[in-house]
Amino acid sequence: MYDVAVVEDEMLARKATALSLRQAGYTVHEASDALACRALLRQKRLDLVVLDLGLPGLDGMSFVRELRSGSQVGLIVVTRQSAAETRIAALDLGADDYLVKPIDYGELAARIRSVLRRSSREHGRRKRLGHCTVDLDARTVSNGSESANLTRGEFDILTRLMQAGTKIVAREALQSVISRSPQESDLRSVDALVSRLRRKLSELDNGNVIVTAPGFGYRLATPPEEM
Ligand code: CA
Repeated sequence: MYDVAVVEDEMLARKATALSLRQAGYTVHEASDALACRALLRQKRLDLVVLDLGLPGLDGMSFVRELRSGSQVGLIVVTRQSAAETRIAALDLGADDYLVKPIDYGELAARIRSVLRRSSREHGRRKRLGHCTVDLDARTVSNGSESANLTRGEFDILTRLMQAGTKIVAREALQSVISRSPQESDLRSVDALVSRLRRKLSELDNGNVIVTAPGFGYRLATPPEEM
């Protein structure tokens, strides 16, 4: 779960942006000016700030500079001015991206995902597994030259196995990962999914990534490592 701050003095605009981000699944904190945002940064572990440059008091550009000098938080600036100089200045000061008002919420969500993906790369939400790299945010597995095309269920199974290191994960536990209503699937569907996942991974890795514990479950052959 990511924590996002929306900094905007116009209440209706702030509430609308905050609502759209809550609906997109983020934990949203609201601030009406730079002072309130400073307080949030001290109290919460924010992943990203959506900052309106048109704020009362401390001007937006100065606040961008201040934010960047003290933290690596993701930063998307919002401006009414479509002037290129404003956008370039904000990016030069360290903003990760910008949007021009009126905000298109779909576009804002896409920009946020992109910034969070980039920052998570820098902060290592990628793991090494055998000869492969697993990106837990982009949900991809690759060996440097090729990528596996994993389904949602296959990736969820892989994630669950990785959480366990090399410990065995029971088939029932894997079933609950892929199905909210266990009565609709049986354990054989877990076996089928794991066997597809194993085949796709072995094409990338040339080795056996997943080990079967007969009658019980599955585990990874080698532990995932931080990158
Ligand atoms: Ca404003």
